[in-house]
Amino acid sequence: MNLSTISSRTLLALSLALAGTFAATAPAQAAAPLQHQQVPGFYRTMLGDYEVTALYDGGGTIDSNLLKGDPALIQSLLARSFQNDPKHVSATVQGFLVNTGSKLVLIDTGTGGHWGPSTLGKLVKNLKASGYKPEQVDLVLLTHLHGDHAGGIYKDDTRVFPNATVMMKKADADFWLSKEIMAKAPEEAKIFFQIAQAGSAPYIAAGKWKPYEGMDEIVPGIAPYAIPGHTPGHTGYMISSKGQSLLVWGDVAHVGAVQMPHPEVGIAFDSDSATAIKTREALLVKLAADKTMIAAAHMPFPGLGRLRKADNSAGYEWVPTTFLDLE
Ligand SMILES: [Zn+2]
Repeated sequence: MNLSTISSRTLLALSLALAGTFAATAPAQAAAPLQHQQVPGFYRTMLGDYEVTALYDGGGTIDSNLLKGDPALIQSLLARSFQNDPKHVSATVQGFLVNTGSKLVLIDTGTGGHWGPSTLGKLVKNLKASGYKPEQVDLVLLTHLHGDHAGGIYKDDTRVFPNATVMMKKADADFWLSKEIMAKAPEEAKIFFQIAQAGSAPYIAAGKWKPYEGMDEIVPGIAPYAIPGHTPGHTGYMISSKGQSLLVWGDVAHVGAVQMPHPEVGIAFDSDSATAIKTREALLVKLAADKTMIAAAHMPFPGLGRLRKADNSAGYEWVPTTFLDLE
């Protein structure tokens, strides 16, 4: 049949017949069930010879009144980032798995479901989704012992990483494992002591709990990096391979929309607010100048990015990594 000879009436009849057949044999598009599930929460990149995998523990929200600064400024910065509910500012938690080729090192472990809403606690599930097993982890490095970083090391009083040594700065272990300091702490802070003490117990019993002091390098290419203020021993880890560097910075910032442009804004979680602010201000200057890649526990997943100086203010902007395939 020559298309040009078809009358518009024939075409209409044809299309109605076709529509009728289609309707009889296939469901309407709108009836397709919603799928709900998200992609697995891991993101992988290479740093020289080292493989770095960001592992998502989960997301939640925090109340902006935890931020310490000019309330009007804080609200306007949040609104600029489309965070319009001051009681529910979005926040994520992630840890970082580093395969050096000879050691599998996990830096921070998420909450393990011991702290925060039930939307957290997925780090091990995502570690498995990324192709590894908890028993393959040789070393767990903790930036500090808050429950959203150390909570993932234990479950039901047993070790989640049965072959791993767990290391953190001695000042943090001394503080959070102290029953005396815990007894004097405000009620709302006690949960952090409880998690640190419950999590450390099975590793201490197994001889796998190793607080450290004054170490230049923990394994080749992974060095502690002092970031004082957030907790008594809060420490980042500088990872270096083949001339590339990545700083896992722990809790330098919790709300990027506010603390990047205004690093002088503190947060209630800081043990020593004045020191934390000074540290953040100095570190942001340095990391923006060096263009160092950052792995951040609480910037939007995967928490990998760099800093640049803002054009029109004294502050900084977070430039997230872009999604890339590895091959
Ligand atoms: Zn944290």
